[in-house]
Amino acid sequence: MARRKVREMRRKERTLSEQLRETRERIARAKIRLASLNRKYSLVSRQLARTRSRVMQLRAKLSRHRSILAERLRQLYKHPPSDYVAFVMDAPDIEDAAIRTYAFQRIISHDEFLIETTQQAKEELEGQEAKLRYQQSQLASLREAIVEQTIELRDAESEQANLLRRVQTERETYERWLQEWEEESREIAALLRQLQSAQRNRPRPIPPWTGPFIRPVNGHIVSGFGYRVHPIFRRVKFHYGVDISSPSGTPIRAAADGVVVFSGWRRAYGKTVIVDHGNGLATLYAHCSRLLVSEGEVVKQGQVIALVGSTGLSTGPHLHFEVRHYGEPINPLAVR
Ligand SMILES: [Zn+2]
Repeated sequence: MARRKVREMRRKERTLSEQLRETRERIARAKIRLASLNRKYSLVSRQLARTRSRVMQLRAKLSRHRSILAERLRQLYKHPPSDYVAFVMDAPDIEDAAIRTYAFQRIISHDEFLIETTQQAKEELEGQEAKLRYQQSQLASLREAIVEQTIELRDAESEQANLLRRVQTERETYERWLQEWEEESREIAALLRQLQSAQRNRPRPIPPWTGPFIRPVNGHIVSGFGYRVHPIFRRVKFHYGVDISSPSGTPIRAAADGVVVFSGWRRAYGKTVIVDHGNGLATLYAHCSRLLVSEGEVVKQGQVIALVGSTGLSTGPHLHFEVRHYGEPINPLAVR
C-alpha cells in the first residue's frame, strides 16, 4: 500500500480520534454543568419552599393583627378618647385617677405596639414576597439552562455515536483492504510456484538471472518492505514490496532480463506485470496506468514494460515493486 494512502488514513484516524476526544469532553462538560444546575435547582427549590411557608405565616399573622386593629378601631370609635378623659375625671380620688390614667396609657401603648408589629409584619411580608418572586424567576432560568444543557448533552452523544460508527466502518474497510492484499499476494505466490516448478522440466527462452537488478523507476522509496502496525486499529499488516514514488506515466523498466508471466488486472495491485527471471526469482510491478507487454514476451533489463499509475488500492501514482523467490515475497532492497 502506498505510504501516501497510509498517511491519509492516519490523518483521517487522527481527525476522527480528535473529534472523538472533543465529543467526549463535550459530554463530560455538559454532564458537569447539568449536575451543578440540578444541584442549584434543588437548592433554590428548597429556599423557595421555605420562603413560601414564611409568606403564608406572615399573611396569617398580618390578617390576625388587622382584625385585632379593626376591633380596636371600632372600640375607639364607640368610646372616643374624650370618654376616657371623662372616665379619668370621674375617679373618686387622685390615686384612682392616676391608676385610670396609667391604664389608659397602657391601652394606648398596646395599640401603638400592635400597630408597629402589624407594620413590621407587612414590611417583612413584602420583602418575603419579593424574595419569592426572585427565587421563582431564578428557578425558571435554571429550568431553561437545564433544558439547554440536556439538548447539548444529547447532541454531543449522538455526534459521538456517529463518529464511532465511522471508525467502525473505516476499520472494516481497512480489514477488507488487508484481506484483499493478502489474498492477492497468496494467489500470486501460488501462480509463481506453479510456473517456476513447471519450468524446471522445460528449456527457458533466456538464461536465468545472475546479475543485479536495476531500479525500475527513479524516485524515493516511500514505503519499505515488511510489517506495519496500524496506529489506531493496532492491526499488523505486511507490505510485500517497496513503494517508489513517481509521477503518473513514468516508464517502468524491467529490473532484469526475463519472461513476462503475467500482464493484467489483480484487484488490490491494479494493473500489474510479473516478470520471471529464472532461478526462482520474479519481479512484480503494480498500480500501473498502462501495461506495455503481454504474457510470454521476453523482456530485456531496462526495457519499458509499463507506465506508473495509481490503479488498484492506491490513492496516488507510485510503483509498488516486489521481488519474489519461488513465490514468496522478499525484500527488493536486499536482493540488489
Ligand atoms: Zn506497496
